[in-house]
Order: sequence, then structure tokens, then C-alpha cells
Amino acid sequence: MLRIGSHVSMSGDDMYLGSVKEALSYQATAFMVYTGAPQNTIRKKLSDLKIDEAVKFMEESSLSFDNVVVHAPYIINLANPDPEKRDFAISFLTEEVKRTDAMHVTQIVLHPGSAVGKDREEAIKWIAEGVNKVIKNTKGSKVRIALETMAGKGNEVGKTFEELRQIIDLVEDKTRVSVCFDTCHTHDAGYNIKENFDEVMNHFDQVVGKSYISVFHINDSKNPQGAAKDRHENIGFGYLGFDALLKVIYHKDFTDIPKILETPYIDDKPPYFEEINMIRLQQFDPNLVEKIKNT
Ligand code: FE
Ligand code: FE
Ligand code: ZN
Repeated sequence: MLRIGSHVSMSGDDMYLGSVKEALSYQATAFMVYTGAPQNTIRKKLSDLKIDEAVKFMEESSLSFDNVVVHAPYIINLANPDPEKRDFAISFLTEEVKRTDAMHVTQIVLHPGSAVGKDREEAIKWIAEGVNKVIKNTKGSKVRIALETMAGKGNEVGKTFEELRQIIDLVEDKTRVSVCFDTCHTHDAGYNIKENFDEVMNHFDQVVGKSYISVFHINDSKNPQGAAKDRHENIGFGYLGFDALLKVIYHKDFTDIPKILETPYIDDKPPYFEEINMIRLQQFDPNLVEKIKNT
């Protein structure tokens, strides 16, 4: 079964239940949520998330929790040189993992961090130390922390597979760590996803191990390979193109891995129903953006 979906919102009265409904409205078989706004750390109480209602609804639907992913807010920086801020990141991430567990989800995507002081070696150590602490704080949980491959804008850590390997090497419980492979980010970081995904994946396998991949983010890119920009484009409308992305989505080694679209809204309208449909049909519609604009 194709495991494809998009990020969906978790807000309003329906919260998690609303996320499930939104995913189903796109005919998705997977989805990703932030437990609140991605750019802040204000979070509602667990009891306000409508988890029981969402779980019941999920069980009656075609969606499975194996294909649901949580994303940690991107302002969390385990590599902050300020020890107090690092401590805050660790305690916030600990709560995020607990929320993820409560939501019956088994993985949380994390941007590894930013080397604010520009010392990448030190940043990598802090990130691993933080991940280890979060894992200890949530002992008994099965939630994996999925380190995302980053585009390399600013001082982002995780731009290369080698950096991800260095972090993973320092994580004590390797059953609790995995990788989120983002097609836009790896392309922007300089990997040739467009013409040679297999070779990129061989490299990834040698450095990290492809069994570490627990989720893909499927995005086209507004910028050429190596631009280090991180600006997502709609599927087939960017520098990666439809065929290259289909190759990733339908790759035989990753059929059981959920694939999540984080492509931009078009005129404030989510493109996910249409993009998922195109992916399922394996047929690019060059008029898609125009069509969505005109609906
Ligand atoms: Fe991300
Ligand atoms: Fe991503
Ligand atoms: Zn991105």
C-alpha cells in the first residue's frame, strides 16, 4: 500500500480529531502534525487534544498509526550555546515525546539544531547529549526521534549524511533514533536527488544505513541543487520535478515508510488532495496550480 499524506493542522476545537478528518479529506494514507504552532512552544493540555475521539475515528477508518508522524517545533535548538536554553529545549522535547506517545504515534521529527556559535563539532555533541537526555526522560517509550536531513541554510546541522551519522554514533539507545529524509532539503544541500536518487541512497546507506529512515518528506524545491535555501515547491513544479519525486515515493526499498508532503498552499488552499491524486495516478498535471487557483 502507498503510504502518502501531508502535514495537516491540529487546531480549533477538534484538535487531533480534526487532523485525522483533514487527512481523510485528502484521501491520505499517512499524515504529520505539529502538536501546536511550529514556531512557538505554547501547547494545550493533553486533555484538550481530543485524543480518544481521534483514536476511535482512526480505528474506524483506513488510516493506521504506523503512518502518523509528529513534528517538533523548529525553534527548538538542542545545540544552543546557552546552557539554560539547551535545558529548556530538552524539557520541551521530553514533553513532546510524551505527547507523541499519548497520541499513539511512534516517531517525532526533529531538526537536529543550529550551530549558533559556528562550532559544528560542539553542536553535534550537544545535540546528541540532548537526545540522550530526552530518551532517558522518556524511558519505556517506543517513540523514535527522527533527525531530519537539512538544507544547510544558516548554520543548520544535519546538512550532510556524515553529520547525521556523527549524532547517531553518540546516541546511546539506537532503537530510539531514526532519520527523516527530506527530498527538498537533501537536494538543496547538494545531493543529486533529481538525476541519481539510487546513488545518493547508496551513499546514505554506507554512511548512515538506510534502515534508519523512518519517514520521507516529499517536497519539490524552488531552488537549484546545492542552493542551501530550503524553500519547498509543489510536486512537479520545482527543480526536482515529478519523475524524480515519483522514483523516491515508489522506491522498492521504502514501500513501508510513510511519505509526507510539505508543499506550499496555493492561494491559501491546500494542494494535497490533488497532489496525492497525481502521485497515485503517477501522472503529472501541468495545470494543477492554475486549476487550484481557479477553484
Ligand atoms: Fe522539518
Ligand atoms: Fe521537511
Ligand atoms: Zn524545509
